[in-house]
Amino acid sequence: MVRLKLTDKEWYAEIADKVLQAIDKVAKEAYPHEGGGFLFGRYDGLTVYVTYMEKPIKYRATRYSFERDVDEKQFERIQREHQVHYVGEWHSHTNGKSQYSSRDIRSMAEIAEYETTRIKTPLLLIEAASKNGAKGYTLYLYDNKKLLRYGHC
Ligand SMILES: [Zn+2]
Repeated sequence: MVRLKLTDKEWYAEIADKVLQAIDKVAKEAYPHEGGGFLFGRYDGLTVYVTYMEKPIKYRATRYSFERDVDEKQFERIQREHQVHYVGEWHSHTNGKSQYSSRDIRSMAEIAEYETTRIKTPLLLIEAASKNGAKGYTLYLYDNKKLLRYGHC
């Protein structure tokens, strides 16, 4: 389990080891294209717990982009079977850097407006990917057109 604190705020995030392992596996399979998926878990007080990850059913990926569609049936099944809520997104960066791009801010703005996901402050986890696996991860919180940094692991 990895525990991260949001810069300048007493907000925390905990990511289960099995989630990071699942992310790394999907990212390795996708390499040299970007890989990505949905993050699920729960909020408790000032902490968000990320406990489950699943790949989108429909997505389009290149070396420089990852776009996914939301399948409402998939979301309903995950929430029912795992007793979790959608908390955000992840994708890998093939260039090995976990800094977000301007395109990432735009897509998180769309996600925050999207009806099915119904979350104003979704997480974004970016994996710095390499051929041999993850070089690291940076977790962000989207809030009002900005990506705030939770930290790096
Ligand atoms: Zn990106």
